[in-house]
Amino acid sequence: MALDIPGATHVHSGKVRDLYEYAPDSSALGAGDHLLMVASDRISAYDFSLEPAIPDKGEILTRMSLWWFDQLMDVVPNHIVSTDVPDVVRGRAVVVEKLDMFPVECVARGYLTGSGLIDYQATGTVCGVALPPGLVESSRLAVPIFTPATKADLGEHDENVDFDHVVSTIGIDDATALRDLTLQVYGRAEAIARDRGIILADTKLEFGRDSTGQIVLGDEVLTPDSSRFWPADSYAAGRVQPSFDKQFVRNWLTSAESGWDRTGDAPPPELPSEIVERTRDRYVQAYEQLTGLAF
Ligand code: ATP
Ligand code: MG
Repeated sequence: MALDIPGATHVHSGKVRDLYEYAPDSSALGAGDHLLMVASDRISAYDFSLEPAIPDKGEILTRMSLWWFDQLMDVVPNHIVSTDVPDVVRGRAVVVEKLDMFPVECVARGYLTGSGLIDYQATGTVCGVALPPGLVESSRLAVPIFTPATKADLGEHDENVDFDHVVSTIGIDDATALRDLTLQVYGRAEAIARDRGIILADTKLEFGRDSTGQIVLGDEVLTPDSSRFWPADSYAAGRVQPSFDKQFVRNWLTSAESGWDRTGDAPPPELPSEIVERTRDRYVQAYEQLTGLAF
């Protein structure tokens, strides 16, 4: 997955993105350690990386994340340093300030679904936050909640934890700061998305500390890979909502046509070109509907 990029040394690959240490020879970047975060066109579903990739997905999500960082500038500083990157990754990579990351996946939820719903059904709480009885799949919460998770290794699932667990790992001051920032970011983003006909059901943020000790928003933000986007016009509590980006992929994979057994061990078959094309259109639509910009 590592590319030959001038000035870049590969350090990590996730399901979708690749990370490099970055120190170009002719650097106008200034002091400090920098990373190059490259978004590929890879797409995953049901915990499998699918073939083929979705053309332009990396570029669309990179632009979307940059747009959100701008919208959030007055809420929290971010790690973006430059979008001037080598030609092989132009458009789908950013230069970021290397942060000392907090080992916490900072999740905010405004709606109940996924692992949050599972926890609620078992305990009446999500990450230690008590919720009223009677909530159902996709219920809107009266107040958005902070539901942190531990960062799992590649291939493992993140584990939901309660606020006290975060306090025990990073201390009360930082835990409180991350919770407050996460809920502020969610509040801002949810309102913007709602205005544009998209429900931001939940989102996962990652923060780190910069060399001056300031808490900074890192990673990618508010993309369909880190958040649940639902079309607002078809929203109804009590059932699973269609996913804005991956619905065609999921529908096809679970249809008789794909011939794939989700309960077996075999990886999914290759996506037909029609599904790839329609999925690409969904990413473009999400970007354009949110930002009001043409891709
Ligand atoms: P997954 O595909 O499940 O997300 P992953 O988290 O291992 O797996 P990536 O998300 O691609 O894969 O990895 C990006 C890594 O870079 C994460 O560990 C994230 O915490 C880290 N990171 C993001 N921004 C910064 C930053 N500014 N400084 C240092 N590390 C960062
Ligand atoms: Mg990640």
